[in-house]
Amino acid sequence: MYDRERRQFGQNFLVDPEVIRGIVDDVDPLPEGTVIEIGPGAAALTEPLCSRAGRVVAIEIDPKWADKLPRKVGGGANLVVVNQDALRVDLDAWFDPFPGHLKPALCGNLPYNRASAILIRFLPHIAKFRHFVFMVQWEVAKRVCATPGGRAYGSLTVIVANYANAEIRLKIGPDSFRPRPRVHSGTFRLVARETPFVTDPLFPWFVRAAFRQKRKTLRNSLLMTFAVPDVDAAIAHCELLQGTRAEELSLETFAALFHFLKPRIDAFQIVPSKDDEILED
Ligand code: SAM
Repeated sequence: MYDRERRQFGQNFLVDPEVIRGIVDDVDPLPEGTVIEIGPGAAALTEPLCSRAGRVVAIEIDPKWADKLPRKVGGGANLVVVNQDALRVDLDAWFDPFPGHLKPALCGNLPYNRASAILIRFLPHIAKFRHFVFMVQWEVAKRVCATPGGRAYGSLTVIVANYANAEIRLKIGPDSFRPRPRVHSGTFRLVARETPFVTDPLFPWFVRAAFRQKRKTLRNSLLMTFAVPDVDAAIAHCELLQGTRAEELSLETFAALFHFLKPRIDAFQIVPSKDDEILED
């Protein structure tokens, strides 16, 4: 039973005090502020967060750990446990500044199998938060914080950069968890841009379309969605070479391509992709 939940909910618990301290310092809980934690599990982060923050809202999908949580943090007078799926929970109630005018911080050692889905879900709301601090699989952390031209640069990088400035923080080995995962982990911090670079909700879909054929040219990827004359006109408009690859382009160039091609987007082309696919490009 335990093994099934461990796999289903990605339950690898932090046991390394130095890593725990590093993450909590990055979250920077303030005595007058709220921290929203996704996936508190056995309270490795929740306990120090509760001792430093005004209030902690802990969203845990597994009822077994949700029930135990108040005891794990010594009563939990400033803890609110929400036994729900972070992919479905309505956070509106927690955006109210408490008790002053501070925005809450959002953090979590995310389950590996749902990490990008959870990140993508909360990203459009990042301006309502002071910052996000997340732990994910190392490859995903590198992808979130990559720069153009590098191997890790992909659609997730561009979609995140559209909303926030990303900074990689810690790299953590399997020994810091029980049970030990097979992979390394990493943490990153996201701070919202003043406004998203492109506000159009179709932009993430377009970025994924541009990365559809990784290691092939941008032109080949875009040709899977747009007509030849439109793609060639967009490439010329942005002064790109025909052999340019999506992983070489900055957010600004993606935005310019999008604005040029947007009038050619046909509603029937838009097939929503699963959030997990974002890891593959
Ligand atoms: N925060 C703890 C730690 O660092 O030791 C546990 C982290 S563990 C990697 C991920 C936690 O997220 C587990 O407690 C798991 O039950 C919970 N979880 C998994 N999927 C979730 C979801 N969709 N919504 C909320 N919590 C989830």
